[in-house]
Amino acid sequence: MDEKQQIREFQRKVEQTLFRHRSFLDVTSMLQESNARLTRSVMRAVTECGCIEIRASRQEYSKGLQNSIHKYRSHLYHNLCESCTDLVSTEMGKHLFYFTSLCSLLEIPLSQIFKQELKNLSTLGFFYLR
Ligand SMILES: [Zn+2]
Repeated sequence: MDEKQQIREFQRKVEQTLFRHRSFLDVTSMLQESNARLTRSVMRAVTECGCIEIRASRQEYSKGLQNSIHKYRSHLYHNLCESCTDLVSTEMGKHLFYFTSLCSLLEIPLSQIFKQELKNLSTLGFFYLR
């Protein structure tokens, strides 16, 4: 099964699971909750586990957009440990589930979104970020 087929199969499985939470209200509120849980799992990696650190300061801009991009910092230091990687990945998966659920309720194929965003990235390059 190639990646495009996997994306379609994932959305099909989500739709099969969705019948219990088919309400647009349930799905949109669960999408918001899963977003908060995902952010919380990353914050816990910082504040409870300590495997990653956040050190932030003003971004330094230099002449030329391309030169600036290479100097931008993520403000993240170190790497997620195995346990935090598992937790964050799980929350990302749940978030993806509810995102895909919303796509299905609105009858938008998930693969179409990947295709469109890939096209936008390829076309707009550095100017993609809004
Ligand atoms: Zn950790």
